[in-house]
Amino acid sequence: MNRAPVPVNEDLKRSSTFGSNVFGIAAMRSSLPKATFKNLSTAIEKNQTINRDIADQIATAMKEWAMAKGVTHYTHWFQPLTGATAEKHDAFFETIGPGEAIEQFEGNQLVQQEPDASSFPNGGIRNTFEARGYTAWDPTSPAFIFGTTLCIPTVFVAYTGEALDYKTPLLRALNAVDNAATAVARYFDKNVKKVSASLGWEQEYFLIDKSLAAARPDLELTGRTLLGHSSAKGQQLDDHYFGTIPSRALNFMRDLEKESVLLGIPVKTRHNEVAPNQFELAPIYEEANLAVDHNSLVMDLMKKVAERHHFKVLFHEKPFAGVNGSGKHNNWSLSTDTGVNLLAPGKTPMSNLQFLTFFINTIKAVCDNEELLRASIASASNDHRLGANEAPPAIMSVFIGAQLTKVLSELEGVTKGKLSPKEKTDLKLNVVGKIPEILLDNTDRNRTSPFAFTGNKFEFRAVGSTANCANPMTVLNTIVAKQLLDFKAEADVLIDKKGLKKDEAIFNVLREYIKTSKSVLFEGNGYGEAWQNEAQKRGLSNNKNTPEALKVKIAPKTVALYEDLGVMNKTEIEARYEIEVEEYINRIQIEGRVLGDVARNHIIPTAVKYQNILINNVRGLKDIYGNDFKKYASEQLILIKDISIYIESINSGVTKMTNERKKANVIEESIKKADAYCNKVKPLFDDIRYNCDKLELLIDDELWPLPKYRELLFTR
Ligand code: ADP
Ligand code: MG
Repeated sequence: MNRAPVPVNEDLKRSSTFGSNVFGIAAMRSSLPKATFKNLSTAIEKNQTINRDIADQIATAMKEWAMAKGVTHYTHWFQPLTGATAEKHDAFFETIGPGEAIEQFEGNQLVQQEPDASSFPNGGIRNTFEARGYTAWDPTSPAFIFGTTLCIPTVFVAYTGEALDYKTPLLRALNAVDNAATAVARYFDKNVKKVSASLGWEQEYFLIDKSLAAARPDLELTGRTLLGHSSAKGQQLDDHYFGTIPSRALNFMRDLEKESVLLGIPVKTRHNEVAPNQFELAPIYEEANLAVDHNSLVMDLMKKVAERHHFKVLFHEKPFAGVNGSGKHNNWSLSTDTGVNLLAPGKTPMSNLQFLTFFINTIKAVCDNEELLRASIASASNDHRLGANEAPPAIMSVFIGAQLTKVLSELEGVTKGKLSPKEKTDLKLNVVGKIPEILLDNTDRNRTSPFAFTGNKFEFRAVGSTANCANPMTVLNTIVAKQLLDFKAEADVLIDKKGLKKDEAIFNVLREYIKTSKSVLFEGNGYGEAWQNEAQKRGLSNNKNTPEALKVKIAPKTVALYEDLGVMNKTEIEARYEIEVEEYINRIQIEGRVLGDVARNHIIPTAVKYQNILINNVRGLKDIYGNDFKKYASEQLILIKDISIYIESINSGVTKMTNERKKANVIEESIKKADAYCNKVKPLFDDIRYNCDKLELLIDDELWPLPKYRELLFTR
């Protein structure tokens, strides 16, 4: 008897394919000699260098494993400061004599490589004539197979030692927060030896039909639409959010998830977002360095998988005016090697005191470094989103919910110095002991907060969808590390010099922190204008655009912070700042050029064409009706005149913008140039767009050269 094949549920099979294209712990254990594996795991755990002999053994095992899966090439995979990922493939293939060849991959090829890196941005660190940078294996992020290439995650540094990538400072920051947090966690549990930061990102994106996108120079070249009238139906009906996923998009997601799972990326949720054709993908959280790599990898995967499904994936924070933009929430917490989430309330008063210690220190860190945190998410594209009534404002504040607000206000009243036995018992029973494990008001309710406590983690919501998470994660972990060091030092003084008990000392220091970091706590509506005024009174920064926001990155306070913690030196800091300023200028410059081109080469000629049709029509009517023609051509005559007015405005607008660009281009100092692009060039986009969009409404749909919002957003 013939039976129909049972449909295979791909989601059920996931666990069996998870990580099968990753040379992770399991693959290493099974392919390395026991002693080598042990050496390697210890080296990874303790951040030690791996010796040459072990590296050779690992390289051989990696090669065998990869070749069995059809791999022919290997590459060092890294994240230069362009924000994209970089790779240069080399074959395993080597000749060993005339007509003789073998497949070879040695320890030194695994451990270090010298890519021709002269064209990566370096902010002046290396002279581009001498491309002296190298990539070095990061054994904490496992190698993986992409297509037929073995990819080895690496850092990218100059021979002079400066970091040229995103990963190096992140690893240093994670190391700093590990050391600082471990020391504090050991107040509560002497068994703690390591604290890791975890990151769970939520990637928002748009999927647009590939051929429609290809007909839009603005989308292709800048990632966003620089013009386009809003669709009659947009997101007003809220019918997309969490709705049924359109089947073409669903096929894309299943394909993407299948590939992600092979790469050991624990993708978990998928759903529609607020805007039409907008979606979100989120994995289960992981150790921060790995999560950052996985986010970069997923973004690469998305572009490739989208190709196959004839989509273009848009990561831009604001691809469509008037339509919801995209972000990338960064969920962050700290956890110990003993399995405790330091940002989750516990079962006992002591574990809750530990929770409060890390919770309050994080708030203090954000309060003292709010401007730097804002700078960590600054980009030309994220400027469209921050403060635009859909994303958090450019003011950094922390939401903690009513229950924890109450706890903090009670702790604020703790006696200075030694506590009476009664007060101690009271605190234990009624304050610290009363924090519920599940905080009801700390789900996701205040969507307007850029930095919200969500029950067992903080959620940094102001991160943009195009961002490399390493940037905000480096800043967050650095400022928390610094804060925890200060905390430990202060508490130790109270214990050692003032004879306070450990918990008394902790209460004392936390009390002061609560007092001095109040200004950053905000539970209200972050979108409201009232908050902007209030925040100003509180002395919080409100840097609305990137050039303004970036300035703090080279402030003496920032340099001291990074240098003290060994995260970056002055040269590295200044180079990054320079690169980001340059990138801002380039982005706005490209947008300006594309807008000018599209307006002059697409819009105006189309308008003229349609105007000529109208003119011919009027002539014909005149032939038929003689002097009476005006009665029958009134609409046409108005249109002809309006088109001329719009054409004139576009033309003069483009000329004005081009002139401002020319003026900006001769400015020497890059930050002043960026300011000019931001304040003189960019504002002129609006008027050009306005007039083009007006024409879109007047001109024959058949003639209009660009796919419209309606088509881009509603083609499924
Ligand atoms: P949402 O914000 O969409 O309501 P959740 O609050 O359930 O969703 O979780 C959001 C993200 O937070 C998920 O990607 C999850 O993996 C991550 N997350 C959960 N716990 C932690 C943690 N301890 N550290 C970092 N990220 C976490
Ligand atoms: Mg979220």
